[in-house]
Amino acid sequence: MPTPSSRVSGITPSGKDGWEVHFEAMTRHQAGEPIIMLSVGDHDFHTPAETVEACVRAVRAGHHHYTQLPGIPRLRAAMAKATSACTGVETSPAQILSTPGGQAALFASALATCDAGDHAIIVAPFYATYPPTFRAAQVDISIVDAHAEDGFQPQAAAIEAAITPRTRAILINTPNNPTGAVYTHETLEGIADVCRRHDLWLISDEVYWTIAGARKHVSPRSLPGMDERTLVVNSMSKSHGMTGWRIGWLTGPEDFVTMLISLNLVSTYGLPDFISRAAVDALENGHGVADIAERYAKRRTVFLDAIRGMNDVTVRGSEGGMYVMLDVSALEPDCEAFAWALLEAEKVAVMPGGSFGDAAKGHIRISLCQPDEVLREAATRLKRFVGSYKRDAA
Ligand code: PMP
Repeated sequence: MPTPSSRVSGITPSGKDGWEVHFEAMTRHQAGEPIIMLSVGDHDFHTPAETVEACVRAVRAGHHHYTQLPGIPRLRAAMAKATSACTGVETSPAQILSTPGGQAALFASALATCDAGDHAIIVAPFYATYPPTFRAAQVDISIVDAHAEDGFQPQAAAIEAAITPRTRAILINTPNNPTGAVYTHETLEGIADVCRRHDLWLISDEVYWTIAGARKHVSPRSLPGMDERTLVVNSMSKSHGMTGWRIGWLTGPEDFVTMLISLNLVSTYGLPDFISRAAVDALENGHGVADIAERYAKRRTVFLDAIRGMNDVTVRGSEGGMYVMLDVSALEPDCEAFAWALLEAEKVAVMPGGSFGDAAKGHIRISLCQPDEVLREAATRLKRFVGSYKRDAA
């Protein structure tokens, strides 16, 4: 065959992708092994019935046609209202670009802020698609680590030190996947200050904003001078229990979003009509939002209570989102070896922290996407494993 473009062949350079433990566990789980899957961030429950019914009604009513490129007007209006609540900044429908999931909004942000050969900064630990998303846009990246000792709150000075003459954008995520850290006002003010002084875009992934636990979600868009340079990534996947529907959106300055409509012209040509209408119903009525947030808050407490008293394991971040991050480095610095051994000995699948950047090495990420009783059982197995691991090592 003729040679593929380096743009595409360079998205995921060959070799390890960090998902090895997960996929091995998944195969064995599907073959009948009693493995507790705590390795993936998809809900264990279905989309709220009201949203499903709204979709069925829309399909039956004949909403099968092309839609406006940036989203149907009522969807943009509902998303604008959600952004106003998420960011604390009054938002108009013209500032909204609806996209098939938060991932497409991330890709749109990378393409729209950086030219090929430009440079972007990603704060680690990060959601695993961030580096390939920039690579697909042929953007060079630097990874800046947020440290476990700081509860994974990033330091503005470290971000500033990574800036080059070609830097155009910084990408952050709060509440954070994988750490569960919820960035403080102070952290965000530091980053905003760097963006203002160096005239940079801030891409702020806030897809977990409704699941902030006891912390208050702060959006950097609300800080002085940031409205004009912040792109907020939102999604209905987590907040509204709609991962498989592929619906999310990007919020940015009106002129910028108007320009971005041409990206939807060439990529999606607009969202599916009946999904847009189901999403309107879900957003306008908040289907599932409070219930999902409460469910994860309770699960976090259940799991953290159940592992209390475990020696040599430290909880880091784990304030919001759908994950708990455990520092196991005092037991085993190689977190991937730890995850494999846990799978073998106790049939519990977790993600090695190193899959989310070096900053999360020495950690394991526990997904809370299982019912309370399963999380309690997983905690029992983990405690037993940690106890014996220590004995073996001694
Ligand atoms: N950002 C973060 C931090 C995520 O964890 C996810 C999904 N796991 C996404 C964005 C993308 O979500 P989606 O494309 O399903 O909206």
